[in-house]
Amino acid sequence: MPDTPLNAVVALRNEITPWLIILRIVPDGWTLPAFYPGQFSVIGLPGSAPRCAGSDAEDPAPDPDKLIRRAYSIASSSLTREYIDLYVALVTSGALTPRVFALNMGDRLWLSPKVTGLFTFDQVPEGQNVVMIATGTGLAPYMSMLSTHLMCGSPSKVSVLHGARHSWDLGYRSELLTLQHLCNNFSYFPVISRPQKEPIAWTGATGYVQELWKAGVIEKNWGFKPTPENTHVFLCGSPAMIDDAEAKLIAEGFTEHSKKTPGQIHVERYW
Ligand SMILES: Cc1cc2nc3c(=O)[nH]c(=O)nc-3n(C[C@H](O)[C@H](O)[C@H](O)COP(=O)(O)OP(=O)(O)OC[C@H]3O[C@@H](n4cnc5c(N)ncnc54)[C@H](O)[C@@H]3O)c2cc1C
Repeated sequence: MPDTPLNAVVALRNEITPWLIILRIVPDGWTLPAFYPGQFSVIGLPGSAPRCAGSDAEDPAPDPDKLIRRAYSIASSSLTREYIDLYVALVTSGALTPRVFALNMGDRLWLSPKVTGLFTFDQVPEGQNVVMIATGTGLAPYMSMLSTHLMCGSPSKVSVLHGARHSWDLGYRSELLTLQHLCNNFSYFPVISRPQKEPIAWTGATGYVQELWKAGVIEKNWGFKPTPENTHVFLCGSPAMIDDAEAKLIAEGFTEHSKKTPGQIHVERYW
């Protein structure tokens, strides 16, 4: 028996690729707390839960009853409190994700009753422009922010720069293309780092996502330069991308935001 009751149920398992899923989780018999878009929750499964095919063997095996817990940014809107969506990447050697990938609709897991985090859109003063830069599943908090806060036609610009290895790893691409089509103040820049593997030649941007900023794509799209005076920048995902992008932004006069010292760079590191 797990040391904590499994208090939630998988309502949907949307497989983007075999190693990338959107998991919809519904609390069973309790209500999700109010949360701010960009915040994260924690899910858990006991060590006894099976691992998915293709994941690495574990040695030693974990305590079968103890919950393995990890944090995940909420990808769904905070306007919806029936469920949360998580956008999860498989780490084949990992402790939790191989167990999460073995879940099917109707399976139970533990969902924390708390949602927390300071990586939120409400930290941005009104009237500022926003650039959201992500690698992989670092896109998750932005999907929650956009589906809750994006105001089409507002004078403030919002842009998403999303980097992945392959085009098929660009989850939420059709939603973001649709938003770009509907909202003239929203723009989306997908970029892939391994174009040689594409079955059909990729005609979009290639390289690392932070290179797009350096290449000035935002300035070209907006028609003016993003500066610390007019723009806030969110960075989410891999530490390598965050460190590189942050160094560039600091050189341009941006500063990291904290509760004590407000700045324009907002950071969420996944590991
Ligand atoms: C605030 C916060 C929010 C997060 N939100 C998400 C999210 O929305 N989606 C998500 O997939 N992960 C997210 N993570 C990462 C997540 O908590 C786990 O670390 C991750 O799923 C791996 O768990 P694991 O037990 O399988 O691997 P572990 O046994 O914990 O191994 C961790 C190692 O796996 C690697 N790793 C961790 N995350 C990833 C990743 N996404 N892609 C590739 N390699 C990785 C790193 O090398 C890390 O050291 C978040 C982390 C934090 C701190």
